[in-house]
Amino acid sequence: MADDERRPLVAGNWKMNGLESSAAELRAIIAGAGRFSNKADFLVCPPFTLIAGFAALAKGSEVRIGGQNCHAEPSGAFTGEISAEMLEDAGAKAVIVGHSERRMYQRERDEDVRAKALAAHRAGLMAIVCVGETQEQRESGATLRVIGHQLTGSLPDKASAANLVVAYEPVWAIGTGLTPTTGDIAEVHNFIRERLVSRFGHGGEGIRILYGGSVKPSNAKELLSVRNVDGGLIGGASLKASDFLGIAAAALE
Ligand code: PEP
Repeated sequence: MADDERRPLVAGNWKMNGLESSAAELRAIIAGAGRFSNKADFLVCPPFTLIAGFAALAKGSEVRIGGQNCHAEPSGAFTGEISAEMLEDAGAKAVIVGHSERRMYQRERDEDVRAKALAAHRAGLMAIVCVGETQEQRESGATLRVIGHQLTGSLPDKASAANLVVAYEPVWAIGTGLTPTTGDIAEVHNFIRERLVSRFGHGGEGIRILYGGSVKPSNAKELLSVRNVDGGLIGGASLKASDFLGIAAAALE
């Protein structure tokens, strides 16, 4: 399948940022995303507290709302946790699972990430499964081995283009201003594509693979036009509508 047969996805991960007053940024994103409506999908993943309000604001627009994490179980005695069903009930259409910050700070393992991706599917959400190597792993030449291992352990057995997205986010590129070369991105994205096709057959051709890590308006065109890069997962730069839309414009126009 050619790159242009997969619809690009521009996704924002707000992390632990955003208050009620941030609705103004979402409104600006919604207003700006309209002009790319025939070119890409847009997703904003705010903190849990904003999901229901944002979903109501975004209703009928080009922008979908997602979560940044979910628990594997649908409900129960798990104080402080949020299930995929709760996200769906609040209006979310997708959830990020296995972000490197959760793998690092919450010690999430591949099997935990896989259980969360399965929970997302159970609840009817699209799962965005994150993978990525550390600087040490890249320097020791272990990148593809690490990514392969994460994919094997983190992806659910059944998936389709409609319910799975893979995000390649080198840990050392997140929030640092550092980015891999386009050659390095191509190598990893081609490798992920091969793995998706060998695991899911023809369906693996349609599953989108996002690049994430220090994407900004000035580098978006270069980073996101690499073959098998089907959009971006944007952290810091997704908090400002002008930057988020600037990335979309650079990548899509
Ligand atoms: C992220 O956390 O998913 C991310 C890509 O962050 P940033 O764009 O800030 O590097």
